[in-house]
Amino acid sequence: MSTLWLADPAPARPALPGDTGADVAVIGGGIAGVATAYFLARRGASVVVLERASLGSGATGRNAGFLLAGVAENFVAASRRYGEPAAERVWRVTRRNQDLVREVVARHAIACDIEWNGSLQIAGDDEEWTELLASAVALLRRGYKLEIDESSQCVFVPSDGALHPIRLLRGLAAAAEAAGARIYEGADVVQVAPDAVRLATARVTAKSVVICNNAYASHLVEARIRPVRGQMLATAPLSQRILARPVYAHRGMRYWRQTPDLRILVGGWRDVAADEEVGEEERLNERVQGFLDGFLHESGITAPVTQRWAGIMGFSHDGLPYVGRLRAGVFVNAGFTGHGMGFALATSELVAALVCGEASPEAQLFDPARA
Ligand SMILES: Cc1cc2nc3c(=O)[nH]c(=O)nc-3n(C[C@H](O)[C@H](O)[C@H](O)COP(=O)(O)OP(=O)(O)OC[C@H]3O[C@@H](n4cnc5c(N)ncnc54)[C@H](O)[C@@H]3O)c2cc1C
Repeated sequence: MSTLWLADPAPARPALPGDTGADVAVIGGGIAGVATAYFLARRGASVVVLERASLGSGATGRNAGFLLAGVAENFVAASRRYGEPAAERVWRVTRRNQDLVREVVARHAIACDIEWNGSLQIAGDDEEWTELLASAVALLRRGYKLEIDESSQCVFVPSDGALHPIRLLRGLAAAAEAAGARIYEGADVVQVAPDAVRLATARVTAKSVVICNNAYASHLVEARIRPVRGQMLATAPLSQRILARPVYAHRGMRYWRQTPDLRILVGGWRDVAADEEVGEEERLNERVQGFLDGFLHESGITAPVTQRWAGIMGFSHDGLPYVGRLRAGVFVNAGFTGHGMGFALATSELVAALVCGEASPEAQLFDPARA
């Protein structure tokens, strides 16, 4: 079965006609590659996007469409891991991402079913609740708006959103093209050499290259990104709204939402098969899919499942993306660890600035060479 999002018919992009040149070659046509091209083209750079399959055929066409602030871990766990000031900056970057999504959707009138109804973060056990509660208190103290519901051990984050990821991607691709970017499909990059990238039958010369092929980056460059699989399903539309907002539960391992056309989407449960759910193969895992079915059953949702799919995420060593210069002329914007919709516009804005020779205080946070 195809993914719910990719079932939408799409205009195909041309194949690369032969050798060409640009200021910047962007490898990968997911949200990171397309957003990078968008920000670079708007700065006046000539940009070529090289996508080996079709736009959004990777994780961008296979996710749940949540636009959450923060990382997979709650704020307390993130502070323990990165230090509190860095965790605060990460939250600011993801809030910036939400603002950028809002801006581009409005500026280019992108119809992507976006809803800003907030999200519900639900603790899976008492230990998680203790941290989730402490995280909410810490964020409230920093001026974030949250509502705590102690009786059902959940936190309402009113500023979060959800959308149709492929419609956002396609709208952004059209906006990048309108700004001058050229996008090619069926363009499988096999090597990144100084000043050029090579495909089997063509060469693209470029002053800079930005690696945006996420889970597959280590085929081309020295990136510490490992491929991790996630599973999802979608049902036929229900007759009514039963979920007001996306739900993120059990340390982000389980998530579900209802789309504006009333379908239920369920994803996650990777923790029940963590050893199996690795690698680059976009294949269904029956055991994990069984848990997604179990969620529908326990929730009394009887609508038939219309789509099941798997997608490959690029996990970094510490849960934060790698954004910045890898070596002379080669940059990376990848490793979103399952949260690329929540990060990629902000990190693409950042990498575009770095490619153009500007400095940014956030560069250190996502330095690809960090320990
Ligand atoms: C099941 C699932 C649910 C998720 N849910 C959410 C969510 O709700 N919210 C959220 O924020 N994130 C979510 N994510 C994560 C999110 O989808 C990713 O972080 C994001 O899409 C990554 O975007 P990307 O552009 O970096 O990578 P991708 O979308 O994977 O794009 C990389 C592209 O590079 C291309 N490519 C690879 N190698 C080459 C090559 N050699 N030459 C040319 N092109 C190449 C691929 O074909 C692909 O199109 C989820 C992921 C999965 C799998």
